[in-house]
Amino acid sequence: MISVSEAIGIIKSQAQRLPAERVALAYALGRVLAEDIVADSDLPPFNRAQMDGYAVRSADIERVPARLRVVGESAAGRGWHERLKAGEAVRIMTGAPVPPGADSVQKVEVTREADGVVEIDEATEPGQHIVTRASEIRENEVVLSAGEEINAAKMAVLASFGYAEILVSKRPRVAVLATGTELVNVNEKPGADQIRDSNSYSLSAYAQLAGATVERLPLAGDDPELLKLEIEDAASRSDALILSGGVSMGVYDFTKTALRALDAEIFFERVSLRPGKPTVFARLGRTLIFGLPGNPVSVSVTFNLFARTALRAMQGCLDSEMKEEWAVLARNVKGAIERASYLPAELETSEDGRLLAQPLKWGGSSDFVAFARATALIIVPEGLRSVDAGERVRIVHLPG
Ligand code: AMP
Ligand code: MG
Repeated sequence: MISVSEAIGIIKSQAQRLPAERVALAYALGRVLAEDIVADSDLPPFNRAQMDGYAVRSADIERVPARLRVVGESAAGRGWHERLKAGEAVRIMTGAPVPPGADSVQKVEVTREADGVVEIDEATEPGQHIVTRASEIRENEVVLSAGEEINAAKMAVLASFGYAEILVSKRPRVAVLATGTELVNVNEKPGADQIRDSNSYSLSAYAQLAGATVERLPLAGDDPELLKLEIEDAASRSDALILSGGVSMGVYDFTKTALRALDAEIFFERVSLRPGKPTVFARLGRTLIFGLPGNPVSVSVTFNLFARTALRAMQGCLDSEMKEEWAVLARNVKGAIERASYLPAELETSEDGRLLAQPLKWGGSSDFVAFARATALIIVPEGLRSVDAGERVRIVHLPG
């Protein structure tokens, strides 16, 4: 049986980069940059006033109160560009260009203007209240790199440097197929021995959060012949196929049977992980196939550890894997000797500023209602029987 990190290594080596496409800036949120973003101008593009007030020569107002002649006005979008001479001041607004010759700005609160003359009560230091040209960014500097995900703040960066269109990685096309004779659709009332399919919805949502476009396929039963045809068909038009259910040792677990009948290359079919041991990873043609155990909590854990990593690697993400962090355990947890455990938790911050991982109180790994409150997973490495409250643990944040 392979470890989680070995499994992730195999997945990353199989995830092929998708081609790039151009999208309009308004549609770029959540996409992954396929080009470096370069500043097409200095930032700020001119010496910019940081306050409403007066642009002055600091030497003129060393002795206060000082009286200066107001020779003009510099407003945002309508600057004053004549050189300031001794004894002169220019009325200036926040964001406006500082005229040449002026070396500082004094704020309006310590001034009085009347009849073309301003009286200033406080001296200035050279450079005061001025953001000098190019002090934030120089023209031609790389401001965002290929592989970064575009978030709301980065939208402003792209807009400021004139990127009306951006080269981003294509979204992976993901097909989601839930298997199981017991499953009925969300709009149906489950009969005796039946349950509603929930996995195809959580999986589709996680796949969208990972940047994919998703096709949620009609429910599949547990018929190996039909499953084979459905997998073949779904794989023919997707970059990744996510199956739920049918990978355990039961008499009606046919996912692997179908994959073998299709001659798919199976890379692994067991991971030393709890929950999620019977996870299958395979490839059919160019399509990556994830066979995830049907238990709704296993589905969430294994999707995010494995399929999410593949989908983000396909888009060229710099950080395709779930990011691990340290937290302090708030309550004792049990581990497993032969498998790494990923236990659902809520995160909170303690009074002294430490990140606390509070393990969920739940009815076990089929309790998806309790799991809906989880924001992170606590990692208990294999070989550890238990970890005590107060000890440090590694955690990963759950997306969404
Ligand atoms: P399996 O991996 O097929 O043996 O399924 C394991 C458990 O997960 C079973 O008890 C199923 O009832 C449950 N399960 C399987 N598929 C789904 C699904 N699509 N939605 C919700 N629960 C499921
Ligand atoms: Mg099943």
